Amino acid sequence: MNYHAWFAAQDNPNERYPLTDVVYYSASGGLLEVAHDTTALHQRSAEEWKQLFESRWMRTSWPYGSGVWGKKEWVCPVVSDENVVSMFEGGTNLFWAERLGQELGVPDFWIKMCGNSHTGSFKDLGMTVLVSVVKQMIADGKPIRAIACASTGDTSAALAAYGAAAGIPTIVFLPKGKVSVAQLVQPIAHGSLVLSLDTDFDGCMRVVREVTANPDSGIYLANSLNSLRIEGQKTVGIEIVQQFDWQVPDWIIIPGGNLGNISALGKGLLLLHDLGLINRLPRLVCAQAEHANPLYRAYLTGFRHFEPMQARPTAASAIQIGDPVSINRAVSTLQRFNGIVEQASEQELAEAAAWADRTGAYACPHTGVALAAAIKLIQRGEIQKNERVVVISTAHGLKFSRFKVDYHEHSLREVVSEHANPPVELPAEVDAVRRVIEERMKN
Ligand SMILES: *Cc1c(COP(=O)(O)O)cnc(C)c1O
Repeated sequence: MNYHAWFAAQDNPNERYPLTDVVYYSASGGLLEVAHDTTALHQRSAEEWKQLFESRWMRTSWPYGSGVWGKKEWVCPVVSDENVVSMFEGGTNLFWAERLGQELGVPDFWIKMCGNSHTGSFKDLGMTVLVSVVKQMIADGKPIRAIACASTGDTSAALAAYGAAAGIPTIVFLPKGKVSVAQLVQPIAHGSLVLSLDTDFDGCMRVVREVTANPDSGIYLANSLNSLRIEGQKTVGIEIVQQFDWQVPDWIIIPGGNLGNISALGKGLLLLHDLGLINRLPRLVCAQAEHANPLYRAYLTGFRHFEPMQARPTAASAIQIGDPVSINRAVSTLQRFNGIVEQASEQELAEAAAWADRTGAYACPHTGVALAAAIKLIQRGEIQKNERVVVISTAHGLKFSRFKVDYHEHSLREVVSEHANPPVELPAEVDAVRRVIEERMKN
């Protein structure tokens, strides 16, 4: 069976481009979507797809052991296997957060650990697809000199790593002083050209769009307005369902900034539904930081009105975005999934992360935003106590050590750390140590 996919304009399905063309917008200026030949996909039954995906899951046969490429026919069939650039991303653990769920009063509470990935965030899922397509383009003789992106930190880390793995030069545009040290050092280590601009993410995005606007520049744009990223990221919803033995949870909660990820999540779930692997859909929740909440504001108007905003600093720096590129597709996703948008203040996101940490998770600030949204929905009775809830953890907590240290040192902006747990400094004397242990372990 020959599977096929292409870029399609939203407003005109007959306007099509090969995935290996350097093209980001339709003739009318809208974003392109990747469309698949669903007639071909329907040739396999739902049961056959499940069996195929199960047989590949977490094995080593190239490239199907990757969580993304194990679903190659659904993701990007146009890249030949030898041009796939993969570090076996995906297949991240979905764990039962038993103690946290008990404390929240929703025992069936799960966290999908997308940060347990090669570069420490879910951005690997999309980047493996984009860089593979570029490798295919270069193999086909296209004059691509480099791949570029603007980033709040994690996109550039992923681009740098996958570019380095493929031997393709990369250029990253970062807002100076607005990404964590761990995020900054990743593209540096991978040999990217790192451009630190005196602006915010939205400012970096404007510059990189201009630099890549002319297809003759030979600089290929890797931001999520490039729909190839969405194709890889959509596997997260498919994986969650697969990990529950093809059962659909009641809720999936995800933090949103540029809003590619919520759109991708929905796209994967809709494909599962369309091909008959599932027969109902979960409700989706997009969680935003109060300091960067343009989608939340639009939600309050029933999505009748959207206005970009100047995002303010937030500990959830990867979602400090005021003018999200994927606003339209996020809105249609939320409408399709009876979705909710919630927001979290700095205080709420920090306490939610700290709470999860004390039950054994290690939540990055963005995961804190999603957890804070879950807490609010549970308290409002919107999420009911017998329902199955999945929170998507988007990055590894260790990429945000400063956030943790600041919380426990009471120096996080706008936050009163209710559960700070600073180390106890003592002389190296047994008596002093015993006194503290007796004091603290009194229960
Ligand atoms: C990129 C990112 C997000 C937001 O994803 P969008 O697609 O921009 O909405 C959330 N959390 C982390 C850790 C990220 O890196």
